[in-house]
Amino acid sequence: MAPTKIILTGDRPTGRLHIGHYVGSLRCRVELQNSGEYEKIFIMIADAQALTDNAHNPEKVRDNVVEVALDYLSVGLDPAKSNMLIQSEIPELTELTFYYMNLVTVPRLQRNPTVKSEVKMRSFETGIPVGFFCYPISQAADITAFQATTVPAGEDQKPMLEQTREIVRSFNTTYGEVLTEPDILLPEKGACLRLPGTDGQAKMSKSLGNCVYLSDAEEEVKKKVMSMFTDPDHLKVSDPGKVEGNTVFTYLDAFCNDKFFPEYCPDYRNLDEMKEHYMRGGLGDVKVKKFLCCVMNETLKPIRERRAEFEKDIPYVWEVLKKGTEKAREAAAQTLKNVKKAMKIDYFDEL
Ligand code: ATP
Ligand code: MG
Repeated sequence: MAPTKIILTGDRPTGRLHIGHYVGSLRCRVELQNSGEYEKIFIMIADAQALTDNAHNPEKVRDNVVEVALDYLSVGLDPAKSNMLIQSEIPELTELTFYYMNLVTVPRLQRNPTVKSEVKMRSFETGIPVGFFCYPISQAADITAFQATTVPAGEDQKPMLEQTREIVRSFNTTYGEVLTEPDILLPEKGACLRLPGTDGQAKMSKSLGNCVYLSDAEEEVKKKVMSMFTDPDHLKVSDPGKVEGNTVFTYLDAFCNDKFFPEYCPDYRNLDEMKEHYMRGGLGDVKVKKFLCCVMNETLKPIRERRAEFEKDIPYVWEVLKKGTEKAREAAAQTLKNVKKAMKIDYFDEL
């Protein structure tokens, strides 16, 4: 019998969510939610993980929990179908982390390429907080606590999923078949795997301040798009331009489809035609950027409008999180019970 399909995914409350989250994971989550194919869906606000590199800035984490929840509701995550939860309210996750730590070596954690690049980004080379160093293990706890089969996420999460799968195999071999091995579900389009920032940096990231936020006003989006780098050698409109590594075209790859052309840029039938013209020479950056603004605005406008509605009722948002967390805690408690039994540390269960 095929295992029950269960989703676990989430975000760190280190800022509002951005268009990288949208194309990398949020858009797919909403589709999966509405497909009806998944028995249970858990969407986690990873506040405990956010504290591993923001220990001295608890207000930032606290304030962003509700911002992330607002972003969830605005993109169309529906509390009737998806459990939204707060990580730190589920102590079972911390307990699982502690037991999984015995199954992972220090060199294995040091090899994790995402952790390596994040350590560099945060200037932790001379002293990594132990909690931060171990966060891939805590992520394995989050995923396995809900017996997740599927984790929709961006490419930077691939090493985390590999690490989780190793922990699952090690646990199941040592103690018996208790945990489920999850698969990552990456976005289909290459441009969405790791959307670059507006500065052209490898990844749009809350911590780098190179983001277009889902909640940015139309004018703000326009300002950010109009000041983006394109091809540095494309100086005159008549110059041939490069589309590869050109962030404006990468964003178009992520957001655009043929339906936008008749209304916003009828000179072309599709993005390929537009790209060809740019590469040939004769198409200016301003025209492409204006088109991108229209395309992004069409996607972001309904999200912005829904956010404005939900912002009027913040107690409702907290209620959604409380209910979602309670349900999630039940699931995690069951897994912890099974784990402790398998590990022979269930002393009082029979009494
Ligand atoms: P931080 O800088 O605090 O780590 P972040 O912007 O990297 O924040 P996370 O909360 O770490 O965001 O990531 C949440 C989810 O969004 C993950 O599944 C991650 O893969 C995905 N994601 C984040 N940034 C991008 C991006 N630029 N492109 C595609 N997916 C992304
Ligand atoms: Mg991140």
